[in-house]
Amino acid sequence: MSDPKQTPDVVVSGGVVVDGKGMRRRDVVIKDGIVAAVVPPGEAPDAETVIDATGRYVLPGIIDAHLHPVYTDRIDTISASAALGGTTTLIGFIGAIKAWGGTGTIVDAVKTFIAEGEEKSMIDFSAHGSLCRDDLELLPETIPQLVEMGITSFKGFMAYRKRGMMLDDPELLQVLEIVAANGGLFQVHAENGSLLDHLQDEFIAQGKTTPEYHSLSAPNLAETEAVMRIATFASTVGCPLYLVHLSARQSVDLVRLWRSWGSSTPLYTETCIHYLTLKNEELRKRGSLAKVGPPLREQEDLDALWQGVADGVIEVVSTDYAGHTQEKKEPIWDDVFKSPSGLPGIGNLLSIVFDAGVNEGRITLPKLVEVLCEAPAKIFGMYPRKGTLSPGSDADLVVFDPTAKHVIRAAEQGLKTDYSMWEGRECVGAPTLVMQRGAVLVEDGELKANPGQGVFLPREGQGVSLPGESQTTNETRRTQGG
Ligand SMILES: [Zn+2]
Repeated sequence: MSDPKQTPDVVVSGGVVVDGKGMRRRDVVIKDGIVAAVVPPGEAPDAETVIDATGRYVLPGIIDAHLHPVYTDRIDTISASAALGGTTTLIGFIGAIKAWGGTGTIVDAVKTFIAEGEEKSMIDFSAHGSLCRDDLELLPETIPQLVEMGITSFKGFMAYRKRGMMLDDPELLQVLEIVAANGGLFQVHAENGSLLDHLQDEFIAQGKTTPEYHSLSAPNLAETEAVMRIATFASTVGCPLYLVHLSARQSVDLVRLWRSWGSSTPLYTETCIHYLTLKNEELRKRGSLAKVGPPLREQEDLDALWQGVADGVIEVVSTDYAGHTQEKKEPIWDDVFKSPSGLPGIGNLLSIVFDAGVNEGRITLPKLVEVLCEAPAKIFGMYPRKGTLSPGSDADLVVFDPTAKHVIRAAEQGLKTDYSMWEGRECVGAPTLVMQRGAVLVEDGELKANPGQGVFLPREGQGVSLPGESQTTNETRRTQGG
């Protein structure tokens, strides 16, 4: 503690504190919303409030680095649902994309989102800039403005030409150059859009529009090819790259191979809870309610993704929350290509990764903390304020009971989105208390947070290195090239 004579506000006592390296019995001492110390049991000074975490794990607050707060649910209900599940930090994709209701420039869209979040968010939040073709002309001005505002990651699409979102190869290179020059990170939806459009047009011409044709129109290799292409571009330009929502086993193999070639340009990868737990048979069971891009895959893909998480090929797990009501997902059965993409799941990140990952023996609990807390905080420029319980960090934490049973029900998740892909699934392990900057957000399943309690988090650009990675500046990246 900075001043040991000061009485702490809160001590979380008797629990097992987990970080990416391991688990230790420790008490967490909190003063003014900040972790003041993490000490062996019994060594904490007397505090105003003592929270008994005996028999529980104490985890850093969960970070969901991939969600879309622009559809049926916005930051108000999304942040409430996230908090109930143990998430304390959100990074939403914000763009001036017309399909998402956007007008004006991307800078306007981000400013509007920050204002909305400051008024309504129950948890801390930030944004990634989501780019479409209409943004290209202004990018030399808008990217530096956004970096100045603390928005340091930018996403582009290699698919969805018909919706005006797909960037072609020269455009991708142009964007990578601008993002790299401003110390940013480029995120990419990697699927070969020409191949997807070709297959989709063929199926539509043949009248093949039932739900299973969604996955048939977006095969695994459409993703893997795009991963190879964008990794090549990014490393040539020297722009740090983050592959969102990897879904295909071949992409995991390719990233592993890519890393063995030793590029000095960082390449980070993410997958989502639906790719880890749901198969494409959901399209036959639930129609377009199960439509997401890239599509749900097969058991072999699930196994490869879990292996990738376990051995570090995949650094981050997120929700890619994009909730629509069942009504908005129409047509459910007869024309999957007309239904919007996206799955709900914002409140399920921790419980699904714990139950399907840790309880099933696929990953360890420290690995869970790495992929849900430490890695997203480091990659997105929020570490060590977020992602860790270290002296000086924000006191965002989850007291987690590994034996508590919890059944997922859409109706109980605090969302307007009225279905869940995991409806009725029993998860063993649940948060009993969720705290942000020392204030209790959720206790025994009851939301105690208020709208506007969350703050906007300006983020730093690339330059924070991951464990085992040497610190590389943008200048050296560019001169080293690939
Ligand atoms: Zn997404």
